Amino acid sequence: MVWSRTVTVSLQSEALILRNRPYGESDLIVTFLAEEAGKLTGIAKGAKNSRRRFANCLGTFTRVRVHYKIRRDASLVFMESCDLLQPATDLSDPARLAYGSYLIELVDLLTEEAHPVPGVFRLLGEAIERLRHGPATGPFLRAFELHLLCDAGYEPQFLTCARCHHDIAPTEQAYVEAMHPGIICAACLQPAESIVAVDGRTLAFVDSLKTLPLAETQNLRPNGDVARQAARILGALLAPHLRRPLRSLKMIAALAP
Ligand SMILES: [Zn+2]
Repeated sequence: MVWSRTVTVSLQSEALILRNRPYGESDLIVTFLAEEAGKLTGIAKGAKNSRRRFANCLGTFTRVRVHYKIRRDASLVFMESCDLLQPATDLSDPARLAYGSYLIELVDLLTEEAHPVPGVFRLLGEAIERLRHGPATGPFLRAFELHLLCDAGYEPQFLTCARCHHDIAPTEQAYVEAMHPGIICAACLQPAESIVAVDGRTLAFVDSLKTLPLAETQNLRPNGDVARQAARILGALLAPHLRRPLRSLKMIAALAP
């Protein structure tokens, strides 16, 4: 990047809006995921009243082209305007809203401001698009969680023990260690460790999700035990990265009949 003498640079990018909050009487503070620059937070001056520069553009899930300026010493970018690319209105039913919020919160918590993570913009964009057209099934959510961990540099190994590197067979019982997440075999298990027991069949299933496109996960129907164990494994692997409880889990719990 070449800084001008005024140390301000004008940029534009496709972006997904993660969240916004009011600031003063008419401004909004907006956090968005830019295609190449990663997660950024900006101020949208007069956005509450603007029908021209930001109309329908700053709600969570919205895909926009954002025109913004960055100043070398400023922590907030200055949002000049947005062009609407895909509105969020079709994600307003309770289930899509709850699960979409879950995807957004995970991305928000696993990314740092101004530290681009290649792959995450495409992953979140595709997941939101899939949610428009199909249900948030267990395998879809597990695959999203797993792809996000891999993109963020935390790719888990499911088929070998993290301690002795022995291959874990589909018929074998194994464990997810909660403090330093990894899969460990029965021989390496220490007494009183905080663990989640899983079987080799579930590990083979979650391993297969690593490379499966999201579009192919919505029709998978693993049996109940595998689905429950897969959720516990991914929960244990994500937990160290979540510095606060996920608000969207309350929304998801409220969907239950
Ligand atoms: Zn081992």
